[in-house]
Amino acid sequence: MAKDDMQELYDRVLFSHQDIVDATKEVARKIENDYAGKNPLVIGALKGAVFFMTDLLKEASLLCEIDFIDVSSYGNSTTSSGKIRIDKDVQRDLTGRDILIVEDIVDTGYTLKFMKDLFLERGAKSVKCAVLLDKEARRATDIKADYIGRACPDEFVVGYGLDFAGKYRNVDFIGVPKDKYIKELG
Ligand code: 5GP
Repeated sequence: MAKDDMQELYDRVLFSHQDIVDATKEVARKIENDYAGKNPLVIGALKGAVFFMTDLLKEASLLCEIDFIDVSSYGNSTTSSGKIRIDKDVQRDLTGRDILIVEDIVDTGYTLKFMKDLFLERGAKSVKCAVLLDKEARRATDIKADYIGRACPDEFVVGYGLDFAGKYRNVDFIGVPKDKYIKELG
């Protein structure tokens, strides 16, 4: 991606690349400690969590397996409706497994609650969640992530997995787009 394109979208940077690296290391230290000797199944929520998940698992000294799920909510591009559908399901049998969900951001919490309930219904022994950003002010459910990289203000953020109309996921920092672009999303 041309550097000029990236900069045109953004109003300001909220989390620099170094902030993200530091947050990832902090979460990695906690999960490698809590999951020592457990062989968890780490399930990434596509597509946003891919960047955080791969960096987190490379950083953590952890014997684990990985899988992915793609869930999306019916709604417009910047808000969740609470109705979730599965676009791509996990492949593994979850019976008796310690599951660690990796998410890019928890906003209303509907998506995380849906995944947590689903995995428990399928017989998981435990289900926890590691999330890079926690937008707590917008929570509409009683769900809480177990490992949180950074608290996020109530803003629409883009970069490092978080998309703007499907793009900008591969930006290595996280920032807030200019108002005129957010309005275009509707
Ligand atoms: P929730 O179900 O917690 O409301 O939202 C979860 C999903 O909505 C996230 O995994 C992410 O895909 C999307 N989302 C929530 N807030 C933001 C945001 O600020 N920016 C972007 N790009 N996506 C967001």
